Amino acid sequence: MLCDTLEKINRKIEHATERSGRTRDSVRLVAVSKRQSMEKIGQAVSCGQVLFGENYLQEAQEKITGDKNRLCWHFIGHLQSNKAGLAAKLFDVIETVDRIKIARLLDKHAGQCGKKMEILLQVNIGREKQKHGVLPEHTEALLRAVLQETKCKVCGLMTMPPWSVHPEDSRTYFRKLRLLSEQLADKGLFASQDKIELSMGMSADYTVAIEEGATLVRVGTALFGKRD
Ligand SMILES: *Cc1c(COP(=O)(O)O)cnc(C)c1O
Repeated sequence: MLCDTLEKINRKIEHATERSGRTRDSVRLVAVSKRQSMEKIGQAVSCGQVLFGENYLQEAQEKITGDKNRLCWHFIGHLQSNKAGLAAKLFDVIETVDRIKIARLLDKHAGQCGKKMEILLQVNIGREKQKHGVLPEHTEALLRAVLQETKCKVCGLMTMPPWSVHPEDSRTYFRKLRLLSEQLADKGLFASQDKIELSMGMSADYTVAIEEGATLVRVGTALFGKRD
């Protein structure tokens, strides 16, 4: 069951990359496993999925410390500064850095674990009051501060566009994030010049996101079904 669903999603990803003249391996699927059981995660793993996204630290801690498969874990929730140490220890990538204080703390704790923290900057591309993320016009300053003050590797940008019932409504926001990332890339501000991550698109709109340049799509319910 879950293998079939995963296969369908991977096929949709493949078609979206073909439509937009991209290679299949330019997009990775982040299986968003928040509030999903270990059993379902295990099923996904047995069908070949290795990259997972989690939002809640306490929940993630149980899953990740029990992970014997050495899976890859991305943190995609809001990070409080008092939890930065735990997040740095548990996760391979933190996708939701939106202030310098968090980057400093992640850097400090990752250093103590002997690793260089890989992060994405979360951008509030729709300028929504209730959403986290740095505003587009403040993103360059944050990126420069992270570069100056930490050893974190800024691999790219992440966003959640304003909610809509129509996936096509997300397109202009996805495009805005891509254009912003291109501006910053032109200034050589990302950790890598040739592989800049764009984490955008969820269950409803991931194919639109891929058409607009997503390299990471975060899919939860479309893969696992309704959350507990
Ligand atoms: C929960 C969540 C997702 C997955 O949402 P679905 O609609 O279930 O695919 C993706 N990104 C973030 C940041 C989330 O919190």
